[in-house]
Amino acid sequence: MNERIEKIINNSQAVIFYWQAKEGWPVEFVSKNIDRFGYCYTDFTSGRVRYVDIIHPDDVERVMDEVVNYTQRGMSDFRQVYRIFDGQGAVRWIDDRTTIERNKNGAAEYYLGTIIDITELKAAEHYNTLLGSVVSQSSAEIYVFDRISLKFTYLNAIALESCGITMQTALTLTPLDVKPEMSLAEFEQLIAPLSRKSSPVNRVCFETLQKRADGSFYPADISVKLLEIDGQLQYVSVVRDISDIKALQYEREQQHAYVQRMLDGLSNEVMVIRPDYSLEWMNQATRLQMQSEWIADSENPKCYEVSHHRSTPCDGVDHPCPLKEVLKTKQEVTVIHNHSDSHDGVDHYVNLVVKPMFDEQGEISSVVESAHNITSLIQLQDQLREQAEKMSYQASHDSVTGLPNRRLFYDRLDESIKRNERLSAQMAVVFIDIDKFKSINDTLGHQAGDEVLIAVSDRLGVCLRASDTIARLGGDEFTLIIEGIADKKGLTTVLDKIMLAFDEPVETDAGTVGVSLSIGVSVYPQDARDRKTLVRYADMALYDVKINGRKGFKFFDEMTH
Ligand code: GH3
Ligand code: MG
Repeated sequence: MNERIEKIINNSQAVIFYWQAKEGWPVEFVSKNIDRFGYCYTDFTSGRVRYVDIIHPDDVERVMDEVVNYTQRGMSDFRQVYRIFDGQGAVRWIDDRTTIERNKNGAAEYYLGTIIDITELKAAEHYNTLLGSVVSQSSAEIYVFDRISLKFTYLNAIALESCGITMQTALTLTPLDVKPEMSLAEFEQLIAPLSRKSSPVNRVCFETLQKRADGSFYPADISVKLLEIDGQLQYVSVVRDISDIKALQYEREQQHAYVQRMLDGLSNEVMVIRPDYSLEWMNQATRLQMQSEWIADSENPKCYEVSHHRSTPCDGVDHPCPLKEVLKTKQEVTVIHNHSDSHDGVDHYVNLVVKPMFDEQGEISSVVESAHNITSLIQLQDQLREQAEKMSYQASHDSVTGLPNRRLFYDRLDESIKRNERLSAQMAVVFIDIDKFKSINDTLGHQAGDEVLIAVSDRLGVCLRASDTIARLGGDEFTLIIEGIADKKGLTTVLDKIMLAFDEPVETDAGTVGVSLSIGVSVYPQDARDRKTLVRYADMALYDVKINGRKGFKFFDEMTH
């Protein structure tokens, strides 16, 4: 072959083949530029590689059938597009143009052909087909229109449907003809940033209400781009129906507003706090607590500034910080804050319940704090406790002298018996009755009588130790429990002291009056071991004193009987 022609061929895209018209198409000649496909021409001319073997298995049958068909039909040349494997095993699309060389009898002897690699072209074709079908099938409306005249150059199927026009009609219209809701000035202003000389933007997006051909409206998200198509700058506008998104957004806003209204209705302060103390959310009760002078950054208020009027996080025994505790334990925490420094001078108590909220990784994203002012509850609790204490005191004490009454006296006596039994010790039960008390009442009045009762109670108190009991059983009757008696002598000393205490008359508002006592004594365990008998014996001893002239004391075991 001419050397020049060979040079041209080797530099060309087209690879020349002479195939023998025999089974497997043995290659008689192939130009050296077959190396474009990763083969050496000798691979074929030596017979090592047969041409049919490099044809893609999915195409080989079709290619062979076509060749047979074209040959039988007496055609002189034909064109085929199919895939082959290159020397590296990669698939290549080729455009094969073949001429049939026949003998005198018309039978095919050679196929003379050129093959060209069209892989890239095929890929682009495929991509274009794909893109075309995506665009035409897209659920978004696509409008392409000229930058200068604004005339449509393309509308996809759904856009045509939405406008209620055919493509033919569309090509005579502009966006403003199909969407007359917007004025030319408004439209130009919206898309102006795309063609701005200084720093043009890539895309403009806006939301608007679109009208369908049937007159119904729908919210749409519109994106407009300026692209070079067919050598001309054109606007491509993608209109997406966002009714569903809007409906969902509306529903979410409604739900949000409902929750907000609900939590605003609570008298409790509720806050959602981030781990850095900043507030994510608050209800109306919390908002009412806010005082601007405590808030350093109004864009980012902290929980302690808003609710506790502090410039640092809560701390100490009276103001423990529940957030720190929740972050540490990852569990719900309840603390009580005591605001004793409040301006009204009253102790205020706030119960804080704080619950953690976790993100998808299981980390605490924020906490919900609910504050409940429990001051009135605590005050009520204190009142109830005081009331109960008062009632229990009244139930066990005498109202005139404030001494334990009969009930408490018996309880104390029972305790004393048990104690002295355990300690093997002695104690005395003493019954006292004021002599001729009636006549004090009668001469000085009932009020003076009460004053005498109080004076008796006081003077008895002076004579006894704190561990002893003085009680008023009723009327002018008093009882004593005297503990820790070593012997009768010691007891007699106490009784003498009592008698001596009444040597002085008693001063009342109504006048001075002399008071004397009659006293009966029984001793545990020597006289008796049980309450009932001890009381009866002391009473009997007292009676003995009364009938023997009053003013004095008597031990049960010394009674004359
Ligand atoms: P006696 O020496 O026999 O004990 O004579 P008495 O006058 O003291 O008689 P008695 O002990 O039986 O009387 C007790 C009186 O105490 C009868 C009642 O009018 C009076 N009295 C009872 N309770 C009270 C009281 O709470 N205040 C006053 N002022 N008097 C009372
Ligand atoms: Mg009396």
